[in-house]
Amino acid sequence: MQIEDADYIVIGGGASGAVVANRLSEDGAHRVVLLEAGDPADGFMNKMPSGGLTRMNKPDADWMYKTEPDPSLGGREMVWNAGKMLGGSSGINGMVYIRGDRRDYDQWANELGCAGWTWNEVFPYFLRSENWQGAPSQSHGTHGPLAVSEPRMSHPLAETFIDACEQFGLRRVPDYCAGDVDGAFKNYTTQLNGQRWSTARAFLDEAGKRANLRIVTGALVDKVVVKNGRATAVVAIVNGEQVTVCARREIIVSGGALHSPAILLRSGIGPAAELGKHGIAVVRDLPEVGQNLQEHVSFPSTFEVDVPTWNNLFGKVSLAREFLKYVFARKGLMTMIPVEAMAYLRTNPDLAFPDVKLSLGLMMFDLAKGGPANIPGMAIFQNVAKPKSRGEIRLHSANPADKPLIAPQLVGHPDDLASMVAGAKMVREIFAQPALAKHVKRQVSPDPMPQTDAEWEQAIKSRSSIGFHPVATCRMGGDEASVVDPRLRVRGIEGLRVIDASIMPVMPAANTNAPSIMVGEKGAAMILEDARVPA
Ligand SMILES: Cc1cc2nc3c(=O)[nH]c(=O)nc-3n(C[C@H](O)[C@H](O)[C@H](O)COP(=O)(O)OP(=O)(O)OC[C@H]3O[C@@H](n4cnc5c(N)ncnc54)[C@H](O)[C@@H]3O)c2cc1C
Repeated sequence: MQIEDADYIVIGGGASGAVVANRLSEDGAHRVVLLEAGDPADGFMNKMPSGGLTRMNKPDADWMYKTEPDPSLGGREMVWNAGKMLGGSSGINGMVYIRGDRRDYDQWANELGCAGWTWNEVFPYFLRSENWQGAPSQSHGTHGPLAVSEPRMSHPLAETFIDACEQFGLRRVPDYCAGDVDGAFKNYTTQLNGQRWSTARAFLDEAGKRANLRIVTGALVDKVVVKNGRATAVVAIVNGEQVTVCARREIIVSGGALHSPAILLRSGIGPAAELGKHGIAVVRDLPEVGQNLQEHVSFPSTFEVDVPTWNNLFGKVSLAREFLKYVFARKGLMTMIPVEAMAYLRTNPDLAFPDVKLSLGLMMFDLAKGGPANIPGMAIFQNVAKPKSRGEIRLHSANPADKPLIAPQLVGHPDDLASMVAGAKMVREIFAQPALAKHVKRQVSPDPMPQTDAEWEQAIKSRSSIGFHPVATCRMGGDEASVVDPRLRVRGIEGLRVIDASIMPVMPAANTNAPSIMVGEKGAAMILEDARVPA
């Protein structure tokens, strides 16, 4: 296959990469090629909100990375899902829209050397993307391509949960998109008229018709070619054939936090010792490529309740009715979001910022059955808001067909484990508040119920899993050790940037889809600004 040269080549059409490809091709002045390993994600199942979730654990649409044994979880290995399609993980994600807190981004800028990334500086880029469907509000944008709306299907117990959080002593947050998430609130979702609004829908469906944007799916990128310190081309495998595409201006790596570092490593950019192990010639010794992997460890607590929840809709007849409701009215269970409300807790009142994040779902799983439980339930998924634990990404080999080696440490830091134990006990207290207590019949899991802190630690280690928010493996910073500088340029290489969740220096206290889209917006704007400055 012949792919013509371009001004810009974007590697990966996920949450960030789709935005970058759209914005760089917007004015028609530049030729852009987007190389995506997955498929176009334009079928019915990609558009029906729950349909995206059914593409999880299918190797054609999900990378299904396998982790190394995690010593912090008793040596367990896990499958780490990530979308392999246009839209990337936004094609299979839970569609929760959340930006994080003002203090997240102020920390990036003021403490971690990321000049230009304070809340006030990133806020306009959240608005630029957004096509808000709700009442007019200064904290939302209405001219962008990314639809954000109130969920079409909302369970009354989500509101009851917020009442219980208030009774427990948390704030009810009036506008969680305005830079303050400290308390409890109901979530908005990336849907439009009952359709999943992945970044493929938002940023590529229309843009894909532009003459100056070429989107190539089924293109597995091997590496970036660097000549005399400048990134000049990308090597990819398309239909089993090796293809080289040349870039006149810049190459942008947007493979996500699990894959972008692997692409840099295969290109000879990374820790020299790791490159040497795989016979890869060192182009630039950058020791932190693949380091600093941060993730939201996720621990479930589930409760049986006395009113029907979405669990009651999973019988064959109900499912058929809900499906028809979707087909004819774009409503019902198929539009459900798995997390309807969230809350932030301090496990120690002296903490300046909450250390635990709670996500409420109005459905519980039966692990033994491997699907929704047959009884009505609620589930809380609990994370450390800003984890201190760090894992890493390395390579199994220099072969692009080999997926990256992922060595997580989900609760490797003792403070994270302590927050998880204290948080799980506080979840029990929230569910014992009057508003919820009258509906709770029993706590279903963890089972058996831990009695001592040691037993809680054991429960966390044996039942926690991945939260699907990997960040920081190509860390941005003002220091020379960081992988990219605050304009997202790879240190020491001309014409090469990383623009995706991997550049976040530390986890925002939030799910990472909207932050990754913001990174795409800001990164693309910086490329265009830099192109206007005469050399
Ligand atoms: C199951 C799940 C549920 C989630 N739920 C939520 C949620 O409800 N709310 C929220 O805010 N966040 C959620 N997230 C997280 C959010 O979707 C991600 O943070 C976001 O998509 C990250 O954007 P990204 O661009 O960094 O990576 P991605 O969106 O993963 O995009 C990376 C892209 O690069 C492509 N790629 C990778 N390697 C190569 C290669 N070698 N060659 C070519 N292409 C390549 C991939 O196929 C993919 O399309 C969820 C994630 C998952 C997996």
